[in-house]
Amino acid sequence: PKRMAVLTSGGDSSGMNPAIRAFARMAMIKGAQVFAIREGYNGLVNDSIVPLHWGSVGGIISRGGTIIGTARCADFRKRDGRKRAVYNLIKNKIDNLLVIGGDGSLTGANLLRSEWCGLIKDLVDDGTLDKECIEKYPTLSIAGLVGSIDNDMCGTDLTIGADTATQRILEAIDSILSTAVSHQRSFVLEVMGRNCGWLALVSGLATGADYIFVPECPPEDGWEQNMIEGLERGRVSGRRCSLVIVSEGAIDKKGNPITSSYVRQTLENAGHDARITILGHVQRGGTPTFLDRYIATRMGVDAVEYFYSTDEKDKEPALIGMDGMKVTRSPLMDCVKTTQSISTLIQEKKFNQVVDLRGS
Ligand code: ATP
Repeated sequence: PKRMAVLTSGGDSSGMNPAIRAFARMAMIKGAQVFAIREGYNGLVNDSIVPLHWGSVGGIISRGGTIIGTARCADFRKRDGRKRAVYNLIKNKIDNLLVIGGDGSLTGANLLRSEWCGLIKDLVDDGTLDKECIEKYPTLSIAGLVGSIDNDMCGTDLTIGADTATQRILEAIDSILSTAVSHQRSFVLEVMGRNCGWLALVSGLATGADYIFVPECPPEDGWEQNMIEGLERGRVSGRRCSLVIVSEGAIDKKGNPITSSYVRQTLENAGHDARITILGHVQRGGTPTFLDRYIATRMGVDAVEYFYSTDEKDKEPALIGMDGMKVTRSPLMDCVKTTQSISTLIQEKKFNQVVDLRGS
């Protein structure tokens, strides 16, 4: 039987558990033996690899986070760490690996695959592995699912955890607005997203925010005055509160950060009773929404299908994502590279090109 393993790496996101469950159970249905690698790449480097059974993934479909642990692993960034990872995979006879994480984790997986033969040869040369391993394990099949609350990756319309994070933000905003209305206050709400404004944008859309600041679309110079005037027009027309959403990576046209405290100060200076809420880790947690359970389950199932269809040994690693409600597979490294070039374009303030690339 095929032997396959799953690990979660980088920041956790709600929906990782349903993905692990779907992957493990579909693999078992197909007759494969399934393993969990604990605490991200640490488990690979230190041989913390445990078999999964049908019951081990029971009752987790509604649980946030990841039951197999996630981490950042400095050792895996070094060739020597990856050599240990290869040794531990071969020791456990695993040559199909599902990685659920962000672009960093997927880059690491791709690197492991590209070094696979060389590292096996090194292990054979230093007497750690038998020579027959070279023929027995010609390649490592890699599939990647994107676990990220930020929805910041190309190759999928939605990353696992983004919908749940949005739901948490909406719950918080709905609560805040009921008190804001009573006191005629203005609220500045800071949301996560790093250099991707998706969370701010869609939660602003779904709550009717007055202003939204995102990294990809910095406001024109003089935005402070425009914002104040816009909020005033709202008040004149009978609105009893104002809501401004700031993405944590928001910047102005010169590339300077637009912080939630600066926005609040601007509102205070114009006579608003303004408060800040920084949502923080509340956004990462809690029970996964329907959409996250749905996409995670579909993607987890497809990862198994992918491993069963990868018998041509040179098949490139795949990123399994969603195109609308359809599951898709794309070349993993193309997705990582496009995603990383978006970050570079934002740093270089080439905002028009960012919008074009995000679309793709
Ligand atoms: P998040 O979006 O939550 O930050 P991520 O997957 O991008 O997730 P990283 O911290 O970039 O998070 O990467 C997680 C782990 O993946 C790292 O600690 C490291 O073990 C591995 N990794 C990342 N980049 C590389 C790389 N270039 N080479 C080898 N391993 C890497």
